[in-house]
Amino acid sequence: MDIGFIGLGHMGKAIAANLIRAGHNVRVWNRSAEPVRELVAKGAKAAAQPAEAANADILMSMLADDRAVRAVILGQGVLDAARPGLIHANLATISVELAIELARIHADRKVGYISAPVFGRPNVAAEGKLNVVVAGEASAIAKAKPVLDAIGQKTWPVGDRPEHANAVKVAGNFMLASAIETMGEAVALTRAHGVGAGTFLEILTNTLFAAPAYKVYGGMIAEEKYQPAGFPMPLALKDIKLALSAAEAHNVSMPFASILRDHLLEAIATGGAETDWAALAQLAARKAGL
Ligand code: NAP
Repeated sequence: MDIGFIGLGHMGKAIAANLIRAGHNVRVWNRSAEPVRELVAKGAKAAAQPAEAANADILMSMLADDRAVRAVILGQGVLDAARPGLIHANLATISVELAIELARIHADRKVGYISAPVFGRPNVAAEGKLNVVVAGEASAIAKAKPVLDAIGQKTWPVGDRPEHANAVKVAGNFMLASAIETMGEAVALTRAHGVGAGTFLEILTNTLFAAPAYKVYGGMIAEEKYQPAGFPMPLALKDIKLALSAAEAHNVSMPFASILRDHLLEAIATGGAETDWAALAQLAARKAGL
């Protein structure tokens, strides 16, 4: 298939490389030039403007946040240049509100639109093992499915409106941040009493909490390995704020998400902007002087 790909950050770069490997014709655009050069060396074509990437069967975008999506997809004529029949699969973690707006704008232009946010860090993306949560019109999902299947281990349809997938994604990231926070507090407690993080987390993540989220982040916490940041603290703060605003839109109270937002802000304000969000686990120990 002809695939346009916009946004070659940590995630986009790895995903686009897998699409090339799967035999698709991939035309890429990125704000900064270096990732484009890397992908061209792997067999992609370079688009001079984002709009050129819309001359495709499927347009995938993996931009940082709402602001970037507005600036690039809505602000640079991408939809005006859409090939008839184009489906835009937006992989980024954006707000539920923007997903609703994008669905309407795409429908007005007769361009297909699906939300397809992903679970999995850049190394998981590079292995083609993401979990892809998808929502939108069934016919659009069906057209994009072979491409979504090529970037992940499983594609999970969750509804017929794109924003369904965005709600699932931000709720999932809230659960991940909660896991990091609880491990951080529990480790501070055991360390204060002389039991190291490694000993404690080895037991818990192999017994009661033997799940990927606890194992992956538990390993990082035990080793205190927070750099290079696969998922930096500011992106995590963005996602917790997205969860809070999606909750607020329906009068859903999420008191723990409010605490996570404050802790992420505190971690960023005290020098953590370049670290992985797993470093949130350091806060409790630091405050206890450990
Ligand atoms: P990233 O490495 O920071 O990449 C962000 C991308 O957005 C880059 O291509 C960047 O271009 C582009 N961008 C940002 N602001 C822009 C603007 N104003 N105009 C044009 N382009 C702009 O982030 P990432 O880790 O790949 O994450 C991308 C998305 O996936 C986010 O929504 C994130 O929440 C989500 N996600 C991330 C992970 C993870 O573990 N990292 C996992 C699942 C989902 P430049 O290269 O020019 O800066």
